[in-house]
Amino acid sequence: MTEFIPAAKPLIGEEERDAVDRVLRSGMVAQGPEVAAFEQEFSAHFVDGRPVVAVNSGTSGLHLGLLAAGVGVGDEVIVPSFTFAATANSVALTGATPVFADIDPVTFTLDPAAVSAAITERTKGIMPVHLYGHPARMHALAEIADDRGLALFEDAAQAHGAAIDGRPVGTFGAFGMFSLYPTKNMTSGEGGMISAADDVIARNARLLRNQGMERQYENEVIGFNARMTDIHAAIGRVQLTKVDAWTEARRRNAAFLDAHLTGVVTPVVDEGARHVYHQYTIRVPEDRDGFVRALKDEHSIGSGVYYPIPNHRLPSLARFAPGLDLPVTESAAREVVSLPVHPSLSEGDLERIAVAVNALAGAGS
Ligand SMILES: *Cc1c(COP(=O)(O)O)cnc(C)c1O
Repeated sequence: MTEFIPAAKPLIGEEERDAVDRVLRSGMVAQGPEVAAFEQEFSAHFVDGRPVVAVNSGTSGLHLGLLAAGVGVGDEVIVPSFTFAATANSVALTGATPVFADIDPVTFTLDPAAVSAAITERTKGIMPVHLYGHPARMHALAEIADDRGLALFEDAAQAHGAAIDGRPVGTFGAFGMFSLYPTKNMTSGEGGMISAADDVIARNARLLRNQGMERQYENEVIGFNARMTDIHAAIGRVQLTKVDAWTEARRRNAAFLDAHLTGVVTPVVDEGARHVYHQYTIRVPEDRDGFVRALKDEHSIGSGVYYPIPNHRLPSLARFAPGLDLPVTESAAREVVSLPVHPSLSEGDLERIAVAVNALAGAGS
């Protein structure tokens, strides 16, 4: 029997278990010193020392980040439709309206021209997603935002360590959010990090995280309980010491696939962009679903489709987009397949993936 190669594999080791045990034994498990240390270390590691605020999920991070930056009822925020629903959900949860714009067919990230066309007098901001770990076109989007007096927000859920011309994602927008869900490039179990452009946004996010309190029982605004626990922070702190090696492994695995795949459209990286390959996503123009099935049934290789239904056609979000047509998004949703690229792949696994994909791509043409 050929061993199954999973599409993703969270890596949790002895050090993470020891760290959790240390926190449990301390008797102080809710948000405390581990969270504060994790914030400092994450900030230094990924966002050049910007103020960061740890929360209980990436989705909370987007929601609180938007509220902290002043987004609310009556506003519009331009987002891609080709992403996880959390991007648009977080906008809708503030009371604002998510406005969907089409993507660029090469990087699958927001198309700056489509963003320009979607701006109205109600537009408050633009929130690109650094999808699959490839940075969105932040130079062009920042220029549009500057010209039109809009804010820029970043959904960096999938892009820890991605950069453009050496500048890390999460440092371009009024805020950026990194998810710490187990399938992301690093995890804390569940969790999210908000990277803030200034101390005002950071303070707003901190207040919203904890019932609007900076000082106990002096609630200044109406807030949530979106706190991260010290147990989760302890896991995240250990993962932070490992994530760079994992990212390098992802990039090596991607380079191997780039060099060995034929007959499919492999990922293209923008000039100056550093791709961290949360996903390695190819296009299969003919019968993508048959390709995914054969990869699993005939070759014991897992894969993923991110995302089969564009947000603007989801039952939950379609009401924000009556009659909207996003042709590039639609073709991506029909054709994309993400192959395993995670750090636990062996050279043998990579060879098997290349042989299988090439055989199926050849069979289809
Ligand atoms: C995972 C993800 C989120 C949400 O993060 P959670 O930690 O799962 O809440 C938001 N946006 C994108 C693009 C994601 O991939």
